[in-house]
Amino acid sequence: MLIVMEAGATPEQIEAVSLVITSNGYEARPIPGGERMSIGVLRNKGPVEAALFIGLAGVKDVIPVTRPYKLVSRETRPEDTVVKIGNAAIGNGSMAIIAGPCAIESEEQALTIARHVKAAGAHIFRGGAFKPRTSPYTFQGLGLEGLKILAKVRRETGLPVVTEVMDLETFDQVETYADMIQIGTRNMQNFSLLRRAGRSARPVMLKRGMAATIDEWLMAAEYIMEGGNIQVVLCERGVRTFVHHSRNTLDLSAVPYVQRESHLPIIIDPSHAAGRRDQVIPLSRSAVAVGAHGLMVEVHHQPEKALSDGAQSLYPDQFAKLCRQARGIFSLMGEDALPEKRPMHD
Ligand code: PEP
Ligand code: MN
Repeated sequence: MLIVMEAGATPEQIEAVSLVITSNGYEARPIPGGERMSIGVLRNKGPVEAALFIGLAGVKDVIPVTRPYKLVSRETRPEDTVVKIGNAAIGNGSMAIIAGPCAIESEEQALTIARHVKAAGAHIFRGGAFKPRTSPYTFQGLGLEGLKILAKVRRETGLPVVTEVMDLETFDQVETYADMIQIGTRNMQNFSLLRRAGRSARPVMLKRGMAATIDEWLMAAEYIMEGGNIQVVLCERGVRTFVHHSRNTLDLSAVPYVQRESHLPIIIDPSHAAGRRDQVIPLSRSAVAVGAHGLMVEVHHQPEKALSDGAQSLYPDQFAKLCRQARGIFSLMGEDALPEKRPMHD
């Protein structure tokens, strides 16, 4: 349940409502909005009695939240959430582009690619320092050294950086260096990692599990928000199906569905969805057209020498072309590209 306060509600009135919530054994979660404060009722096992709040001073509305993901749901927050990553933003009505190599391999490699993607128009640099690899015998990432290179890239180019955290052990390290923390597909339901991310002051990019339903994905985001971190970006990166013509199958319908269900921004990673370079530009075009808030794309200046995911990495000139096309499609759509905000009642 959501208690919506009047625009002029006083702190005492808000406190009095919170007290009714907690004295009934629930948790009160203040949710600041554009004009007014709302208070979420959490930890209820069954329905909450609306009569407890109707008529209390300063209360404007009492809204039942029907979805299992409360804080993530548009029922709780009708306005789109804007996530700030250093000097960039995702979900503010523009098209955010994140680009960089799969893995940080050396300072020279990272800086070369960062300069290319910045020149083409990327807003955020990506690169893994800790890599989740299928085989323990392949390149596992440079670890702390990779994080330090990312910090250097930020200093040299001014681009904020996003990088993956794989476990609790290295969380503090990653948090120190990254502007946004990525939780990968293999960790989408690593609940202790999600809880730790919920206590972080950094924004979090949560990738969809490769076999996760959207409800499971949104519930994973709820873990992060429940911990107090409301800066969450969702990233669709393809799900596993029976096909062999691509590494995964990009689920484009996730975008309009998530945008109706949730106020959180959603971006698309066509690189891990496709697994092959020739599909990345066409899928990126479709991601812009379907109304995603951003793209995350793997780029390498020497993909044939890349230590991971070379086959899906774009050459810098291909990435520049992708940016031109993405901007063209985005500007064609104009205001109409904004997501549908009315929640579904099905
Ligand atoms: C990545 O973005 O580096 C990555 C490993 O992606 P995913 O978790 O989607 O496989
Ligand atoms: Mn990769």
